[in-house]
Amino acid sequence: MDAVYLHGPGDLRIDDVEPRAVSAGTVAVDVEYTGICGTDLHEYEVGPVPIRAEGTDHSIPETEWDEYLPKPMGHEVAGTVSEVGNDVDDLQAGDRVTLNMVAACHDCRYCATGKYHLCERGDGGVVSSRGFADRIVVPSSMAVPVPDDVSLRHAALAEPLGVSLRGVRRAGVGPTDRVAVFGAGPIGLGVIAGAAAAGARAIYVSEPRAARREAATALGADVVLDPTDVDAVEYIQRETDRVEAAFECAGTATTLTDALRSTAYGETVVVLSVFEEEVPIHPNDIMQAERELVGSFGFQGGPLASQSEFTAALELIADERIDPEPMITETVPLDSVGSAFEELRDPSSEQIKVLVEP
Ligand SMILES: [Zn+2]
Ligand SMILES: [Zn+2]
Repeated sequence: MDAVYLHGPGDLRIDDVEPRAVSAGTVAVDVEYTGICGTDLHEYEVGPVPIRAEGTDHSIPETEWDEYLPKPMGHEVAGTVSEVGNDVDDLQAGDRVTLNMVAACHDCRYCATGKYHLCERGDGGVVSSRGFADRIVVPSSMAVPVPDDVSLRHAALAEPLGVSLRGVRRAGVGPTDRVAVFGAGPIGLGVIAGAAAAGARAIYVSEPRAARREAATALGADVVLDPTDVDAVEYIQRETDRVEAAFECAGTATTLTDALRSTAYGETVVVLSVFEEEVPIHPNDIMQAERELVGSFGFQGGPLASQSEFTAALELIADERIDPEPMITETVPLDSVGSAFEELRDPSSEQIKVLVEP
């Protein structure tokens, strides 16, 4: 079976691997669509990205790469169950599913308090999965049934949308709030859609790429600014006297500071990006304004998967409160994964979410 593995920065290969057999408690899924995620692109650029590695400056030293590479890729998966293992009662062959791959060790202090997505051993159940392949075998608890009126094409977006919805929840966005979103890639676009679904009063977006600005409008943004043309912070300050919540979804020093300075005193800025390097900020932007700078990582999983932002994403799509279609710019076969990664890394590309169809 063909499956995509990362062998090093810029070195993505289609390897011929043995398909895994189904064992007790697992299911095999025939993959229909797997989205290319921003995290996949970061790893393609800089090598394996650790989930939490404060001791190693948030990167895995090159001397330890052998442990992580070659690394299977592809975690935004939707498909059809083809085989179920013993002890699996709630799924059967033919069921349409998407995968919530937040695993839990049930043993660490975070799992003990229900923060399964922060599990200390959650080192990559998600980002080390083999979703760019014909078939994937996962614990049955990770396979989430797709509602009848949601296509598998859209179900593949439940994962990134779940990430965005957690960010919206972290800021507690409601109908009285104006929000600002810096960066309208897939995660920023999901934040826009989620904030619109939460009833946000006005949504301001700053994004340099034209296709992403267009998608932002389609997903519910009220004002979309090109930061190469307009000073977004000045505009937002003038129009709103600062917003009630801002979201950093681009992973740059500028967007982080812009998000802080666009936010009213005492309000919340959510960081959703994976940053490729350290960036400077002025702590007074937090201290003197009593702003809250909060992180948002993944979405609830483990035993809370059914109440998670991932499941909420599927329901919002089923209820037509979110239509993810404007995010999808292309569908490619497995053998075009390499060129799709190259294109997505190009800052002038107008691609947004590319789905791989193995
Ligand atoms: Zn993802
Ligand atoms: Zn744990």
